[in-house]
Amino acid sequence: RRLDSRSGPAAGLLCECQTPISTEPMESVYEFTGELGRGKFAVVKRCVEKATGKVFAAKFLRKRRRGRDCRAEVIHEMAVLETARNNARVVNLHAAYETDHDIVLMLEYAAGGEIFDHCMSEELLPEAQITRLIRQTLEGVHHLHQSSLVHLDLKPQNILLTCLSPPGDIKIVDFGLARRLGAVGELREILGTPEYVAPEILNYEPITTATDLWSVGVITYMLVTGESPFVGDDKQETYLNVSQVNVDYSMEAFSRVSELAVDFIRKLLVKTPEDRPTAAECMSHPWLWQLCLSPEPASTRSVRERSCGTKWGAPAEDPEDKEN
Ligand code: ADP
Ligand code: MG
Repeated sequence: RRLDSRSGPAAGLLCECQTPISTEPMESVYEFTGELGRGKFAVVKRCVEKATGKVFAAKFLRKRRRGRDCRAEVIHEMAVLETARNNARVVNLHAAYETDHDIVLMLEYAAGGEIFDHCMSEELLPEAQITRLIRQTLEGVHHLHQSSLVHLDLKPQNILLTCLSPPGDIKIVDFGLARRLGAVGELREILGTPEYVAPEILNYEPITTATDLWSVGVITYMLVTGESPFVGDDKQETYLNVSQVNVDYSMEAFSRVSELAVDFIRKLLVKTPEDRPTAAECMSHPWLWQLCLSPEPASTRSVRERSCGTKWGAPAEDPEDKEN
């Protein structure tokens, strides 16, 4: 991961957050009950609010990284979560604390773990479940993009589930690399995880909302095949695979994947960002609706209706119509 060397609005960083950062000892309010995950600069622990019994995920973010004060990056991550507060597909920020070494974000707990576990397991999810998770992901991404926010680190480890079995709803986490687009100048030079990174990032070309749609393509590929599309034997090979968009849809892994699913992935994994559909356009792809028999919430429907008939021709039949 390389962070943009500039800081502040020019680099798409938000500088102000509303959530107060408490310096009171967290241990008197929460009981910590184990580790949920960890990254380079963060540890996430499960914790229970003593007064209410409510479970939260506490993300411990180091204030100093590589000898540098990174408080601004943490404030930015909080501010992005606040901006996305009314986005049901983004994890909610409940409170924040500060210790000697960390700022700790108390996040809504997603009990079902990472959708990554459904990409790597022997038993893949049925396509009807996958389309539901992808629809929800697109809803969340669409909402972010409407606020001029790009996530830039969408991958199966950063899409969580509210419940493991049966799979619940998705929650997008990890806004450490997220940026605000557009205000001043263009955004380049941020690096995510090699396997999931879009070609324009490797080429230091301007970053747009289309960068997130590439990632949705990678995530979908992984959910339907159980394999990572671009991973090579080393970083170099992975980068080469990404920049050449080296994908083989004729592999054994695709033998039981529907044609519509392949079509959906093919449209996202294209080199030129402008040629990828937007999140709203993706929402009307027939793959996402063919197996959907139960009525969807109103919010999903409104996104789809706004994008009807643009990129994919006529939208799929309304599932509610089938019942009548
Ligand atoms: P990093 O920036 O280190 O990748 P993340 O925010 O992605 O940090 O958190 C790391 C991991 O911790 C996630 O991949 C997930 O497994 C777990 N995790 C993060 N947030 C939550 C949450 N709200 N509920 C449950 N688990 C979480
Ligand atoms: Mg992460």
